[in-house]
Amino acid sequence: MAHTFELDSTEAATLGRFAEFGSVPSFAIEPERSTDAVDCSDVDAMPFALDAAHEFAGVAASVDAFAELCSALDEAEQAQFAANRAMAAQLAATRRALELAARNPAVYLRAAQLASSDAAELAVRAAATELSMRLKVSVGTIRNRAHEAAVLQARLPEVWARFAAGAASYLDARVAVDAAAGFAPGDARLSELDQSLAAVIGTVTTTRFRQRARAALAQIERDHLEARHAAAYATRRVVVEHLDDGMAWVGVYTSQLEAAKISARLDATARRDSGAPDETRTLDQLRADTAARWLSGHGTPTAARTEVVVTVPVLALTRAAGPQTGKTTATGSCGSSGAGTGTGTGSSIAGTDRAASTALAVLDGVGPIDDATARQLFADAPSFLRLAVDPITSAPLVLDRTRYRPTKEQRLWLSLVHGRCTRPGCDRLAISADVDHLTEWQHDGRSNPDNLCPLCRGDHRLKHATRFTPTKNTDDTVTWRSPTGRSYTDPPPF
Ligand SMILES: [Zn+2]
Repeated sequence: MAHTFELDSTEAATLGRFAEFGSVPSFAIEPERSTDAVDCSDVDAMPFALDAAHEFAGVAASVDAFAELCSALDEAEQAQFAANRAMAAQLAATRRALELAARNPAVYLRAAQLASSDAAELAVRAAATELSMRLKVSVGTIRNRAHEAAVLQARLPEVWARFAAGAASYLDARVAVDAAAGFAPGDARLSELDQSLAAVIGTVTTTRFRQRARAALAQIERDHLEARHAAAYATRRVVVEHLDDGMAWVGVYTSQLEAAKISARLDATARRDSGAPDETRTLDQLRADTAARWLSGHGTPTAARTEVVVTVPVLALTRAAGPQTGKTTATGSCGSSGAGTGTGTGSSIAGTDRAASTALAVLDGVGPIDDATARQLFADAPSFLRLAVDPITSAPLVLDRTRYRPTKEQRLWLSLVHGRCTRPGCDRLAISADVDHLTEWQHDGRSNPDNLCPLCRGDHRLKHATRFTPTKNTDDTVTWRSPTGRSYTDPPPF
């Protein structure tokens, strides 16, 4: 089997001449360990490597340049070791913080919550949320890091020692954590796995280490491969990731068998369609278009029916909505019943509002979209909602104490103002979030926008259970003050 390597361009250029031999020696050897774990069976390649070294020495410009270059290389390598050690230290500290919170829930929780059965879990969530606001990474990432530290320290002590000493990278350590995932703590096979991983980690590239880990696992788990697949298959899912330039990835995590079937059907369909007389799309484009069509159900009775929320910046609306005093929102259907509203070729996404039409449309939860995409949305979506609220004259948004539940207009308004859950650092969409009363209803809090904040279900629960205190600022940002004394505020949305 051919080995694959991760090489940078210089290495690749140097080694390119050996590629025809199908095997090259590994250069990823660190100072204190000279054990090259790579099976280098093709000794024919070695004389070429030596020739190359002589050639390089012969053209060295000067002794000074040589020394300077070596020192830069050393510095890069030492910095890598230091970064590895720092990451291990961060993982360990993260685990410690969460465990301390679990043992001392009173730091975060309100007194009434301390007796609840999930007090420790809530306290861990609170500590993870606080650390997420400090480090600007998601709560999930923080909890993952604590989990990784726990797995490495408790189940893979030799691998952890290599990582903590700087000899292995965080990426490598995560590969090891994944490999240990199927074993319960205390499983005797863990020490076998630990030893075989520790012998290789840091001596090869991460790609190569992943292959070695897989091989070690298959060896240890030869009687359990089926059960492992079943466990992995239980976590199958679809992931959508929004990217730049109006693009996104849709990923299906499924079995290799299903993936092969999907791929074969897409290939066959794309090849058939590419034969059409006027077809100019590449096979890649055809495969992507076909997959998107199948998944969205385009042209079938079960086609996706989406409610699309498109907004334009509030200032533009303020200018545009002047004559429409008293009208809070414009909602309507598009498609079969409302085709006239948005599908006309000349109509902009903002209809006849000239001021608004110069602003970019924003697709809720995704970001600014170009006009052609916006027009397409209006043409395709069975219904759309468009905010047309004047923030100064929108009296209907403010309600008296007779009403607890925010109106649909208020929810829309809040989701458009905030975009996301208002816990600093949270990325969940406001449109699907709970609406929280900052000052609670029973404490005379009103259902007015200045007292309402979208909070995702998890953060809503956290706010009520803990002693985090949110306040709304005049620019509509929200500050969360932690019981540990720190305050966190996200910048205003775009
Ligand atoms: Zn949230």
